[in-house]
Amino acid sequence: MGKRISLYFILFTIIFLSCDDENRVIPTPNTQVEERIPTPIFNADSAYDFIQTQVDFGPRVPNTKEHTACAEWLVKKLDSYGAKTMVQEGEVTAFNGDKLQIKNIIAQFNPEKTSRLLLFSHWDTRPVADKDKSRQGEPIDGANDGGSGVGVLLEIARQFNLQETKLGVDIIFFDAEDYGIFEGSMNRGAEDDWCLGSQYWGNNPPIANYRPRFGILLDMVGETNAQYPKEYFSTYHAGNIVNKVWNTARNIGYSNYFINTKIGQITDDHRYVNILANIPSIDIIGWNTTTNTFGDYHHTHKDNMEGIDKNSLKAVGQTVMEVVYQEK
Ligand SMILES: [Zn+2]
Repeated sequence: MGKRISLYFILFTIIFLSCDDENRVIPTPNTQVEERIPTPIFNADSAYDFIQTQVDFGPRVPNTKEHTACAEWLVKKLDSYGAKTMVQEGEVTAFNGDKLQIKNIIAQFNPEKTSRLLLFSHWDTRPVADKDKSRQGEPIDGANDGGSGVGVLLEIARQFNLQETKLGVDIIFFDAEDYGIFEGSMNRGAEDDWCLGSQYWGNNPPIANYRPRFGILLDMVGETNAQYPKEYFSTYHAGNIVNKVWNTARNIGYSNYFINTKIGQITDDHRYVNILANIPSIDIIGWNTTTNTFGDYHHTHKDNMEGIDKNSLKAVGQTVMEVVYQEK
């Protein structure tokens, strides 16, 4: 704190203490007040449309033309919002030996700023509907699982272009999150079967000395009456960020979505961003606290646009934007 501020503080205190009038007006020296830049309004219709467009490409399964076409569209959108965009391409091996050509899509807003935040989602979709009762071998729409996080972050990217943030922000769309062991498979599954894109990114850092303050993952954020509990790895690695985000949600009226319930470990991209890149990161993820699992759409053909609710998109999008725009 500078000398000038201290002097104002003393003057302020003297004026305050010497005034007996109960209706006194406390003078506020305007040089002392840090202006609060209002957070822009998150547009849930826009986020919804971004999910629809992804679904319209068809399932975004690595090594398919739909996957390639959607990647091109995502890059084009991020470019159009003024980001410095790059695609990290690589090959990973899935649990069943499949070689997947992956694309992690990275967009930097205000790349020159050293104080940065990271927002991320996975953009690929599950190659099978292994929890469905029919057509189990066919890929899913992935409106919520894949589409929703990307849709919300694209809308946030659009807002970044309209009103600059104080800090630099990076958005990453990770690939091949959802190619983990198929239910009923003969192979033995492992935790590391999932999140192949974020593992590749963590093991092959595309940006040297990348040190954002913290990361926020959005995964399956669009279901009706969504509830986002405090997931174990999030509180373990970044408890203060969980508190920051959940308190922010409460302050702007979304405590019915961001519930004060703790749940167990979910292996998701934030796990690898924490342990491989050492960036404290949390997961905002939809969870059914009654059945204590994901919603019944999960990894089924029910994961389509009918299950997407704009109110849930709004709760998540506005909360994340409030956190980003108000971060000092
Ligand atoms: Zn999934």
